[in-house]
Amino acid sequence: ESRTGPVHPRWIRVNTIKSTVDDQLETTFKGFEIVPSVQDVISAPVGSKTLCLDGHVPNLIAASPGTDFTKTEAYKTGAIILQDKASCFPAYLLDPRPEDGDVIDACAAPGNKTTHLAAIIRGRDSTEQKIYAFEKDRNRAKTLDMMVKQAGSDSFTVIHRGQDFLKVDPGDKAYKKVTALLLDPSCSGSGIVGRDDLPDFHLPEGPVKASAGKGDKKAAPAGKTDRKRKREDNENKPPAVVVDDDGETTEFTSEKDLNARIEALASFQLTLLLRAFTFPHAKKITYSTCSVYAGENEHVVLKALSSEIAKNQGWRILARDRQIRGMQEWPVRGDVDACDGDETVAEACIRTYRDDGRGVMGFFVAGFVRGDD
Ligand code: SAM
Repeated sequence: ESRTGPVHPRWIRVNTIKSTVDDQLETTFKGFEIVPSVQDVISAPVGSKTLCLDGHVPNLIAASPGTDFTKTEAYKTGAIILQDKASCFPAYLLDPRPEDGDVIDACAAPGNKTTHLAAIIRGRDSTEQKIYAFEKDRNRAKTLDMMVKQAGSDSFTVIHRGQDFLKVDPGDKAYKKVTALLLDPSCSGSGIVGRDDLPDFHLPEGPVKASAGKGDKKAAPAGKTDRKRKREDNENKPPAVVVDDDGETTEFTSEKDLNARIEALASFQLTLLLRAFTFPHAKKITYSTCSVYAGENEHVVLKALSSEIAKNQGWRILARDRQIRGMQEWPVRGDVDACDGDETVAEACIRTYRDDGRGVMGFFVAGFVRGDD
């Protein structure tokens, strides 16, 4: 590892449509030592063949770097999917149950979350539920197609190749059984910047500082005070970088230009969320980004909650104590200041920060619900 920050573990989701954690421990991970926590994996030497079973998301493994899992049989057959822990939060938080009917994944390619939704649905022995996966970009839709087939979920996933979710008629009879929507729109990608598979940029100073969540400082990198970290950040004077859906990076030298880009993304993200609110039978939605900026995260949530449509249709945020267990227990929450001081909304929002010692990328997810509890 050339980076100086904490090692980023390899996150591997066992695709329960094709395999089980036990099967994988006996095959792909044969000879790996199982340690209790992700911190143990992070502190193990690179190449040491160490793993832990994640405590928040079921069927997720953190392994020490040094093994190329893309060469394994399990990867080639779709039995395992390489997916960062944070990227597993939306489907898990959406928690599609057999009684929930059909599910929409509005921005689906390459298909990590589509296939995760599929695994959750099949894991509950649901044979009626369908997933409608929209992907506007035809090229990326091809990857989605391949991934869905590889994961063994093509028989109940309908892919709308090249289709813009914003052009879908929510009243279309085809979607009358849709009650749950997963929204993972294009974003600044600022949460993935600096991962060891990307150029080693530093995070730009954003409206929300990239640090451990309030009330849970203990996992911040050992020995670094906030002031020291801030001084190092300033010394390094970070270039502001946006990573698009295809992994292309754009460097911004002017803060004004960066903010204009974030604003444009946020406006699209809000439009998408408000459109999802109009699906007549929808009762739960997740909204996620791999951005660290409040403009794309808490601010979008606040605007959505105060919209006429949310008020008229009874949409509210999915409170922390109503979330599925692993997400309730995830300690890093939304930024209270970015939520205009609303602690309930901030607690409901789920954040992750890279380099805070938890081994995940920067990410944000919030759930919305309507109707009776
Ligand atoms: N959910 C994906 C996953 O976990 O693998 C990643 C989604 S990526 C952040 C956003 C995707 O949304 C891109 O592939 C982009 O082409 C697509 N997209 C953007 N705007 C869209 C729209 N209006 N309708 C459908 N897809 C859209």
